[in-house]
Amino acid sequence: MKELVCILSIVFAIDFQGNDDYEVARKRMVSTQIKMRGIHDTATLAAMLSVPRHKFVPADLTHLAYRDRPVRIGYGQTISQPYMVAFMTEILQLEKDFKVLEIGTGSGYQAAILAEIVDSVYTLEIITALGTAAKKRLEDMDYDNISVKNTDGYFGWKEKGPFDAIIVTAAAEHVPPPLLAQLKDGGRMIIPVGSPFMIQQLLLVEKEDNRTKTKNLMFVRFVPLTRSD
Ligand code: SAH
Repeated sequence: MKELVCILSIVFAIDFQGNDDYEVARKRMVSTQIKMRGIHDTATLAAMLSVPRHKFVPADLTHLAYRDRPVRIGYGQTISQPYMVAFMTEILQLEKDFKVLEIGTGSGYQAAILAEIVDSVYTLEIITALGTAAKKRLEDMDYDNISVKNTDGYFGWKEKGPFDAIIVTAAAEHVPPPLLAQLKDGGRMIIPVGSPFMIQQLLLVEKEDNRTKTKNLMFVRFVPLTRSD
């Protein structure tokens, strides 16, 4: 019995030690990679501090979870660099009662960040295995305000729209007209646009009085938005 207690306390000690390490790494990530580069939105910073990013990367890559880089998540896809996630989140100027659409669920990390801030998140993924795994991961983490669907996100999710904000996390060759149609008047969309595997432009598209205004924010490199045949 004594031995069992001893073994159990060692196991728990190791586990707690691990979680503490992740929390320290996460705090450091937020201060050095995000705040110091000019992200100030309180809700974005709080979300980046609270979502356990290491739970969204493959088990053998958890040591890379809080690094200043994208991480492979399988099927040739990546979870974006933390700064990029924070930048794209902040620029949407989210409010609590917002309904947000994400194209490119991937690991579900960006969806979780959004779900910390807004009431409802809808996210679409074209690779069934990734979408299914992300849905389960998010359910296990008790995110009950995220809906995941496996489909080609080019067409958006008309029945759930219109959306206050849309975030596309894969590079499109143009702004998909169905997404623009599902954006509310006064809404904002952030989307990388350009040729696959080349440098792309991160665009902020604002819809006002049913006209759109597009701003090029920076050059980026995202995995391509693929299309179902
Ligand atoms: N936001 C994700 C990472 C995105 S990587 C995260 O936080 O982990 C880009 C994702 O877009 C990949 O998972 C890729 O499969 C998906 N994707 C590419 N084309 C798509 C399309 N047409 N519709 C929906 N998802 C798409």
